[in-house]
Amino acid sequence: MPVLPSLLEYTHPALAELLAGMGHKAYRATQLQEWIWKHRATDFEQMLNLPPALRQELAARFTLRPLNVVEVNQSTTGSTRKFLSRMQDGHLVESVIIPAAVGQGGAHSERLTLCVSSQVGCAFGCKFCASGLLGFTRNLTASEILAQIVAAEEISGERIDNLVFMGMGEPLANIDNLLTALDVIMDQRALNIGARHITISTSGNVPGLRRLAEYGKPLRLAVSLHGARDEVRSQVMPVNKKWPLSQLVPALEEWNRCSKHKITFEYILIEGVNAMLPEAPRLAALARKLNAKVNLIPYNTVEGLPWVRPTEANCRAFCRALINAGIPVTMRYEKGHDINAACGQLRLRRETQA
Ligand code: SAH
Ligand code: SF4
Repeated sequence: MPVLPSLLEYTHPALAELLAGMGHKAYRATQLQEWIWKHRATDFEQMLNLPPALRQELAARFTLRPLNVVEVNQSTTGSTRKFLSRMQDGHLVESVIIPAAVGQGGAHSERLTLCVSSQVGCAFGCKFCASGLLGFTRNLTASEILAQIVAAEEISGERIDNLVFMGMGEPLANIDNLLTALDVIMDQRALNIGARHITISTSGNVPGLRRLAEYGKPLRLAVSLHGARDEVRSQVMPVNKKWPLSQLVPALEEWNRCSKHKITFEYILIEGVNAMLPEAPRLAALARKLNAKVNLIPYNTVEGLPWVRPTEANCRAFCRALINAGIPVTMRYEKGHDINAACGQLRLRRETQA
């Protein structure tokens, strides 16, 4: 089957340019965009107000669905759903749909969050991560990023209104396609998800952070820190040797100058690596310096990796030490543990079976 580019990543101006090049008037771009995003057409033949010759030409050159969902797993403990998609070249990516109540007091609302992947595998090779274990295959196109959101809305029958780039891959290592996808994600005529409902998670890709800051949108930033000093961080995150804290911290200070949202530090608690109590004040000091909040995640076991999740008492003591130091902190037990909803795990299982 030929690999066709997808129209999902075309903004309105890009569609207008494409259609002008094919000899069509600008209003056709509006019609085409409405078919793609308002009516969610899956086939060009559905686009009845477009001339048949245009429908045929578009169908010969483009696809509307650059991936197919091949497996959906429902968690037995909650309503988390993880799905696996096959792309045109056969590679697999995973995404996780997470319903969550947000707000306080009377202002409660249900938000539907999607955790999306940005790459097949990951080149950063963090030692605790199933995606890192696989190595890097390729970047996802902007359309493949967008298609995960379309698929999630088709699976759930609901609108995705919160997005986290915490699936497989390092989004800032795929910054060009990420920014193209974000243009469409935030476009009111397309997915219309506001910047403040989008979180980009990075392991600390310093040039990517600068590009994201220049993009100038009020996105939320999560930094996978996992160590408050180089000795600890480098032990499990090879990326820290390339961009150590002495480079990462100034890049985050620069981010803070342009952003009104607090940064979130993601900190996986791993026994004997970073969960010892003397690490807590170090983490608190860094969080204070960068006005960050901390999200503690007890390590999710990955088959074949030696790391151990600390006891619950240890996790709580670490959390308390941060609270006592005045740092805003949450502790997240991954939802959907039974369906391997941590980064990279489902795909790893299927690839190793194949
Ligand atoms: N590459 C980006 C985004 C994807 S990873 C990043 O690293 O931030 C999303 C989150 O899952 C990261 O915070 C990552 O550290 C975390 N993660 C990876 N493996 C995990 C595991 N086994 N248990 C818990 N969290 C894990
Ligand atoms: Fe890549 Fe993030 Fe996994 Fe590290 S934690 S290997 S950066 S996906």
